[in-house]
Amino acid sequence: MLEARSLNQLSGMPDEVVSSIITDPALRSCIQCGTCGGVCPFGYLMDYPPVRVIAALRADVFSKVFTSDTIWMCVACSMCSTSCPAQIPLTADLMSRLKEEMILQGSVPEELQTALENSQRYGNPLGEASRKRADWTRGAGVPVPIFGKDVTQADVLWFVGDYASYHPRALRASQALARLLRLLNVDFAILGNEESSDGDSQRLAGEHGLFELLAEKNGRVFKKYKFKQIITTDPHAFNALKNEYPLAGISYPVQHSTQFLYERIDQLKPFLRREVKARVVYHDPCYLGRANGIYEEPRALLKAIPGLTLVELPHHHKTSLCCGGGGGGMWLDGFQWEKSHTRLSEWCVQEALQLKAGVMAIACPYETPRFEDAIKIVSHTDGLAIKDVCELLLESVGTES
Ligand code: SF4
Ligand code: SF4
Repeated sequence: MLEARSLNQLSGMPDEVVSSIITDPALRSCIQCGTCGGVCPFGYLMDYPPVRVIAALRADVFSKVFTSDTIWMCVACSMCSTSCPAQIPLTADLMSRLKEEMILQGSVPEELQTALENSQRYGNPLGEASRKRADWTRGAGVPVPIFGKDVTQADVLWFVGDYASYHPRALRASQALARLLRLLNVDFAILGNEESSDGDSQRLAGEHGLFELLAEKNGRVFKKYKFKQIITTDPHAFNALKNEYPLAGISYPVQHSTQFLYERIDQLKPFLRREVKARVVYHDPCYLGRANGIYEEPRALLKAIPGLTLVELPHHHKTSLCCGGGGGGMWLDGFQWEKSHTRLSEWCVQEALQLKAGVMAIACPYETPRFEDAIKIVSHTDGLAIKDVCELLLESVGTES
């Protein structure tokens, strides 16, 4: 382990993470095609996109990778992983471990550090009090039962997630889903103040220990109640519950809310009476689409809305542009702005505006605030509205139902 030894001499870095990268046989299957650097939205700004990280590894100059802070331009969009011909798990593995090492070295942008500390201290990256987690239910207009307070069992445990619970704009989609679930007579309940952050973005940002802590905490709460399945509107929560929690023995059937509603589309359709006359584009969230292959259910729900015309963005399905919010991007905006003077959310909005769309439909609570901010910057008009699929469905139902 010449490389690991020289690394320690150079910077005193802990061995464990670095060694796990250096000895990873998967990385040796890289053919240096450069695809990962080419498809990466911020590849043009990163000193070490995945292809160069692996090249440095081969050339025995791996320590140089840690001299650049542009690793924090990685928004964990999964574009490199899903495009790599050698099928190397770049996003969740290599990039996340590099970030873990940067965290261990104390080289973390301040805003990300704050979000990670908040997640540890308050159970959510926004630093909100856990007792306020269910406050959004007051504006739902329908009863939203809470496990432990109102019920101890329900068919469906709705894992609401951080932004969908707390963010003043994102929580409106939660309120819309609550109404839709009531309409469909779904027996559901939320966890209220017992829910903690799913931890997925923290994990992708390199905080693996914190992720495990949050997963264990949620796992302990799940065990207290009886339910048949979990649903969530949050693609990162969905990704964690579907792919990561089972690795820690926390395994339950889980669906994204669009999958759950799509399975009930025949029951839902008679309620969709109002026309929503709009030219609508749908933005595929990275961790619903690219990372988990859910593309058609949200589209089918949108197509079921009378009057709505669905148009595809230039980048859609597998090639969808990242909003820049996942995998810690929500907490790196300032850092990334300083480096790039652009935001990925602006690129997405530009595409929608070029298509003269009236609405950009989304299926991720990170996206509403990001895209609404981006519209203010790129267009200075209110011609493009951002709406969650649940909000559009409820618009067609009408709030009096
Ligand atoms: S896309 Fe895969 S094979 Fe090609 S350079 Fe990147 S890591 Fe190597
Ligand atoms: S996950 Fe996305 S942002 Fe990160 S290196 Fe890969 S392509 Fe670039």
